[in-house]
Amino acid sequence: MTSPRTLSLHNTLTRAVAPVVPLVPGVISLYTCGPTVYNFAHIGNLKTYLFQDLLKRTFLAAGYEVRHCMNITDVEDKIIRDSQKDLPEPAPNEARHAAMKALTDRYTACFLEDLAALDILPPTYTPKATAYVPQMIRLIQALEAKGLAYAREGSVYYRIAGLPQYGCLAHLDRDGMKAGASVDTDEYERDAAQDFVLWKATKPGEPWWDSPWGQGRPGWHIECSAMGMELLGDRIDIHSGGVDLVFPHHENEIAQSEGCLGHTWVNTWVHGEFLLVEGEKMAKSAGNFYTLRDLLDKGIRAEALRFTIQSNHYRKVLNFSFEGLKASENALRRVRTFRKRMEGDGAAFGQGAWKERTEPAQRVAEAREAFWDALADDLNSPEALAALFTLITDLNAHDDREALTRAERDAVLAFLDETNAVFACWPHEAEDLDAGVAVLIEQRRAAKAARNWAEADRVRDELKAMGILLEDRKDGTITWRRT
Ligand SMILES: [Zn+2]
Repeated sequence: MTSPRTLSLHNTLTRAVAPVVPLVPGVISLYTCGPTVYNFAHIGNLKTYLFQDLLKRTFLAAGYEVRHCMNITDVEDKIIRDSQKDLPEPAPNEARHAAMKALTDRYTACFLEDLAALDILPPTYTPKATAYVPQMIRLIQALEAKGLAYAREGSVYYRIAGLPQYGCLAHLDRDGMKAGASVDTDEYERDAAQDFVLWKATKPGEPWWDSPWGQGRPGWHIECSAMGMELLGDRIDIHSGGVDLVFPHHENEIAQSEGCLGHTWVNTWVHGEFLLVEGEKMAKSAGNFYTLRDLLDKGIRAEALRFTIQSNHYRKVLNFSFEGLKASENALRRVRTFRKRMEGDGAAFGQGAWKERTEPAQRVAEAREAFWDALADDLNSPEALAALFTLITDLNAHDDREALTRAERDAVLAFLDETNAVFACWPHEAEDLDAGVAVLIEQRRAAKAARNWAEADRVRDELKAMGILLEDRKDGTITWRRT
């Protein structure tokens, strides 16, 4: 077995692109912050999950095993706000938890549907925060024992003055930070304005858990530290999220985990940029707010969104537009048509085999090299795709001049499979439809051979109605493509 290809990523900790050297050779541990499930994911959220799927598929296609943990945040301020509002007061704690679970179960299912529709690979672990409260409590106790956490009126806070490296990820100026305004939105009693909450004392109208500090619930940041440490361990290769999570969420995760462990928790932090819609910030009030369902209702295919997002470099702001989606659909059609051409339909293939030639095979090898060089360099997906599209242009022209041989077509198809393992947008078409098309093409060929032009035209029209366009080529072969 060959060793996996080395891939480099931009590390937010160092602000530099560097090779990812996994802690266990050949295995990547990956933690990605999952959704807070109180509503549908919007396309800004989906941009992050699609970039992470590209990241994960690139490691898989490069020969690594990937252990991926993506949490589901199912207890949090907004979840409590939305799930408790219709409960009769006073309500027992069990009813509060049940109402919270009903809301989060509903939107967790919707979220998993979105992932499936977008062909995002399921994570190895999908822990729900509410199932890890004992681990969160133990982590907070460990921080207390180290003098990094303190309790005030039933809540527990992190003492950031106790951790010299606080601010390392967001590259904060500690002096500026002290003078600065709010660094966390939680409003509770604490020693220093920058200290953040680990455990929140319960308030009227909220579901609660018992804890050493009384009834309360975990803060958001502690959830990811506890689940990540429990499922992926004390050292993790890659942790990822959107840029909006760098501060305070990921900075606080580092403080919690490293404060407890006493060593580096995550080697590489990878953050994806945000998204604009037609040049504007996406907002419900601006009327430019979209979920995947909104796009599907407009007749847009999920893979067009997938391709639009993944063809943009993950560290660049994506300007989402309907024009861009249309361009993606055209690009995808081009790859599929090319794949179809390379798959052939059983008609005679080129006679190139009798000639000694290396050109098409060489072009595939070059494109493959360029494709992987680009991905290995901080996941440069636009450049990787450029290598593929240049190959398509070249080989279409070559195939027009002189048909590719079966062996050459197979080399191209293998490369298309390899690129599809990363981008998941040009799979094999359904076999049964292809078989039906092949039968009709054969009927037409027989009609033409019998000089039954009326029948040949009739079959051509029948295929056209199925969205299949035939192309009679100069060398006598017939190819077809979808319109
Ligand atoms: Zn997180």
